Amino acid sequence: MDDKTHQITILGSGPAGLTAALYAARANLAPIVVEGLQPGGQLTITTEVENYPGFAQGIQGPELMEILHAQAQRFGAQFINDEATAVDLSTRPFKVRVGDGEIRTQALIIATGASAKFLGVKGEKELMGYGVSACATCDGAFFKDKEAIVVGGGDSAMEEALFLTRFCSKVTIVHRRDRLRASKIMQDRARKNPKISFIWDTVVEEIYGEPNKTGVTGVRLKNLKTGQSQDLKVDAVFVAIGHQPNTSLFRGQLEMDELGYIKVVPGTTRTSKEGVFAAGDVADRVYRQAVTAAGTGCMAAIDAERWLEAQSDHA
Ligand code: NAP
Repeated sequence: MDDKTHQITILGSGPAGLTAALYAARANLAPIVVEGLQPGGQLTITTEVENYPGFAQGIQGPELMEILHAQAQRFGAQFINDEATAVDLSTRPFKVRVGDGEIRTQALIIATGASAKFLGVKGEKELMGYGVSACATCDGAFFKDKEAIVVGGGDSAMEEALFLTRFCSKVTIVHRRDRLRASKIMQDRARKNPKISFIWDTVVEEIYGEPNKTGVTGVRLKNLKTGQSQDLKVDAVFVAIGHQPNTSLFRGQLEMDELGYIKVVPGTTRTSKEGVFAAGDVADRVYRQAVTAAGTGCMAAIDAERWLEAQSDHA
C-alpha cells in the first residue's frame, strides 16, 4: 500500500468486483481490488455454472473466476489478497483499512457479496467443520458412503444435494414447506435422482454429535404441520437456506434495507453516499445471479468513472 490517493477502489472479487475492475481498468483508472477472504467469491465454491452466457457447454465456477481475474489484470487492475477490516466514508478521500495499511480512494465500489446463512439451532456452531457445512463442493468428499441431509428448498439446496450424491449413499432434503422454491430444471433433477428423498414441512431443531469424536450423528426434526418431532440418524448436515449481504463494515454509513442490503438509486449503482457505488449481491435481494452481478459491476465502474469526471470538471 502506498501514500497516494487512488481513483477507484473495489471491495470484493466476485463477478461484480472483477467486472467493475475490468471496466475501470479499461477506463485507465488503475483500480485497486481488495479481494476479500474468498478471492473469486461464491462461484469458487460451486461446480458447474450452466447459465453464464457465452459458455454453451457450461464452465466450472473457479475457472470462470480465473478468467475474469486475468481479464481485469490484463488491463492493469491491481489486486490485494487481503480483506478490508474498516472503512471510513465520512470524508473524501474515503479510507479503507487493509491489514496494517490504509488505502485512500476518491471513489469506492462495494462488491462484497453475500455469505451463507445458518440455522442458529443447538449443535450447529459446535459441529461446524465436523459434519455441519454450507458448502458441498468443499466438504462433500468427506462423506463417502455416508448419509446427509440438506436443509432448504431453493436452487442452492438442489445443487448441494445433487453434488452430494456423487459421494453419499443417501441424501435427504429437509424443507420447511411442501413446495420447493428452486427452478423447475433443478427440482426435476433432484426429484429424478434415486439417491435423493424429501422430508416436507419440516425444520431442524437440533444437531446431535460431538466435535473431534463422532462428528454429526443425527438431527432432531420437527414437522411444522403436525407439531411432532423425530430423530434422524445422519452423518452430515448441509445448510443451504440462502445468503445474507456482507455489509457490516458499512452499517451506519450507508442506507440499507431491513435485511442489510445496500440501497442504491434505482437503475444506478449509486448509494446514499456520493462517490460510493454498490454492485452484485450486496445490493441485490431479487436476482442474485452471476450474470446480474457482472452487469451491475459494469454499471458501477461506469457510474464511478462519470462521477469522477464530474468531480474534476468542478475542481
Ligand atoms: P433462496 O432461493 O433464498 O432459497 C432459500 C431456501 O431456504 C428457501 O427454500 C427457504 O424456504 C429456505 N430457508 C430460508 N431460511 C430458512 C430457515 N431459517 N430454515 C429453513 N429453511 C430456510 O436461496 P438459494 O437457494 O441460495 O438461491 C439464491 C439465488 O441464487 C437464487 O436466485 C437462485 O436462483 C440462485 N442460484 C441459482 C443456481 C442455479 O441456477 N444453478 C444455483 C444456486 C443458486 P422458503 O422456500 O420457505 O422461503
